[in-house]
Amino acid sequence: MHVVPIPCLTDNYAYWLPEIGVVIDPSEAAPVLAALDGAPLRAIWATHHHPDHVGGVPELAERFRGLRVFGSPIRPFPGLTDALADGGEVDGARVIGVPGHTLGAVAFHFTAGDGEVFVGDTLFAMGCGRLFEGDAAMMVASLSRLRDLPGTTQVWYGHDYAGKNLAFTDSVLPCVRTPAPPPGTIEEERETNLFLRWDDPKVADAVGAPEGVQTFAALRSKRDRF
Ligand SMILES: [Zn+2]
Repeated sequence: MHVVPIPCLTDNYAYWLPEIGVVIDPSEAAPVLAALDGAPLRAIWATHHHPDHVGGVPELAERFRGLRVFGSPIRPFPGLTDALADGGEVDGARVIGVPGHTLGAVAFHFTAGDGEVFVGDTLFAMGCGRLFEGDAAMMVASLSRLRDLPGTTQVWYGHDYAGKNLAFTDSVLPCVRTPAPPPGTIEEERETNLFLRWDDPKVADAVGAPEGVQTFAALRSKRDRF
């Protein structure tokens, strides 16, 4: 799958999938239109309803007649036309429900080749999304579904927070990783992302909490204040 990252706003990424005419998470229309360079847009997929992921939908929908806009009906947004649910499929991608950052958050997983997963604000390089709507147990369940994907799977994040997340990681339990633009891989996140290591005794020791959800919650609350 050919993936074209489109930097938007200050640190967001939208993604253009030219083979299937899909854009994921268009926070604004102008950079998306520039990336399309005249190519037809068939559909938009939204990982969640936050404006920095769907802000460009109305303008794009006006521009491309019949555009379909896929997202979770749990948290609808202006322009949504087609409902997604956990376990569903859209254009060859599997929909994984990953509530926590928001209750309607979804990830899109392509299994062909090494695999690709578009995770929105659920997983970042060395980080994860804030718990705006869900709780720690819910987020751990969601992240564990992503962690269980094949290690070679390429991960496309909703924001570039790698620099700050590396600084945070180094303040808790240093790892060896250089911040780089997306994609990362699931294997790399398993090894270096503290938020995927809630059951690792070394991480639990570093935050002084029992292994499991409480370790995750302690990390999340430290990162919120970092
Ligand atoms: Zn968000």
